[in-house]
Amino acid sequence: MSDEERKDTPEQDEFRAYCREWLSKNAPGPPPVQLPQSPIEITTEEQMAYLRGWQKSAYEAGLVGCDYPKEYGGGGRKDCQRIANEEMQRAGAPYFPNVIALGMAAPTIFFHGSEELKKRFIPKILSGEEIWCQGFSEPNAGSDLAGAQTSAVRDGDNWVINGQKIWTSLATFASWMILLARHDRADKYSGLTYFVVPIKEELGRTVDVRPLIKITGEAGFNEVFFNDLVVSDRYRLDDVGKGWQVAMTTLLHERGAGPLVTPAAAGRASEGDLTRNAMSLIDLARNSERNGRTAADDPVVRDRIMELVVRQSGLLQSLRRTRVKGLTDHPLRIPQAAKLVFTELYQDIAALSLDILGPSGTLFVADENAPQGGQWPLAYLNSYGMTIAAGTSEVLRNILGERVLGMPKSK
Ligand SMILES: Cc1cc2nc3c(=O)[nH]c(=O)nc-3n(C[C@H](O)[C@H](O)[C@H](O)COP(=O)(O)OP(=O)(O)OC[C@H]3O[C@@H](n4cnc5c(N)ncnc54)[C@H](O)[C@@H]3O)c2cc1C
Repeated sequence: MSDEERKDTPEQDEFRAYCREWLSKNAPGPPPVQLPQSPIEITTEEQMAYLRGWQKSAYEAGLVGCDYPKEYGGGGRKDCQRIANEEMQRAGAPYFPNVIALGMAAPTIFFHGSEELKKRFIPKILSGEEIWCQGFSEPNAGSDLAGAQTSAVRDGDNWVINGQKIWTSLATFASWMILLARHDRADKYSGLTYFVVPIKEELGRTVDVRPLIKITGEAGFNEVFFNDLVVSDRYRLDDVGKGWQVAMTTLLHERGAGPLVTPAAAGRASEGDLTRNAMSLIDLARNSERNGRTAADDPVVRDRIMELVVRQSGLLQSLRRTRVKGLTDHPLRIPQAAKLVFTELYQDIAALSLDILGPSGTLFVADENAPQGGQWPLAYLNSYGMTIAAGTSEVLRNILGERVLGMPKSK
């Protein structure tokens, strides 16, 4: 290891040993319900209750919010969330359900919220007591986020919100939403202001949440309609007109490049986790019949699997570069490239699995004869959303080219 590479401090070593010991006794066993492949597809109360229970016990043990100050319910440690994440992953622990709150709302409130809001919201985010959703995308504003039209009109000490958000993951479970709204139509960027808004207590009155069923049958997505929702000015983050800058903090953390490491990055899904690993295609090929032999006996299949294994190894090696100081000059450089490469690799892994499975790849999750519980066709269908969420592949390529590599802007 060169001098440039980051070494763990004695405090971090001690914390790692603590996490390992705690997880050896407390990591949850097999879930009592089938879990979806990622937290944004949580659909039932049972799934949510199990995952919430897990987040609460991990929080109480100090494995969530390790790097947040103690006054906001955190562990008051330094660079320790990364270690807790590594240990949770090693122990095969499930993911946390409050993924949007942990990964986006908490760091945004931390960097842009008032003292009152930090103390009010961050502890309940870390424990999972309050679930959050993200109200950014609109029917005509996704990649072009600054085109958001949901309006916020000042009324004394309050704001009145009207408009529509879409693709709002977890909104059916959420108590609160991070919201990007427009207070001024004259200026695209400085006409935006950022709020935290109550969802649950206004349901059926000034807020309407309508689930959107995906092709997989899962209902993680929603449309959210605002009809004169009144929000106190206390719930504004940063200044009026600074919404775009605040949203950049959210997106930086959503893309894994913010200064606060998210606990949600750790953990596995379930059996479905297999589908994110090119190595598991080897077993799948060994156990799938093809013309009287196994798929693994087919040299073309072997070649295609190895091509994906090589890409996966390249990605893991590339991620190790985050430990080299000189390569982290631009916060987006490695995390954003990793998101792009991983999501496209995942799509190719899922597509090859269906080729290997042949006709049995059409048997879906509810079918008792489906190989590996039908997780592969489910992964195939879900893999397309992953190259869209948190910035589409095209948009990420633009950002990497223009902002990280400094190439000229496309016309
Ligand atoms: C699984 C999933 C979860 C999501 N969860 C949430 C959530 O919780 N909250 C939320 O607010 N949003 C959420 N989204 C929405 C997501 O942020 C948007 O779908 C995404 O930003 C793309 O926006 P769009 O769908 O409007 O597509 P568009 O922006 O209309 O893009 C359509 C196509 O045009 C391409 N394109 C657009 N602009 C450019 C450009 N400048 N250069 C090159 N190509 C371009 C895109 O790459 C894409 O192929 C989620 C999406 C998914 C798939």
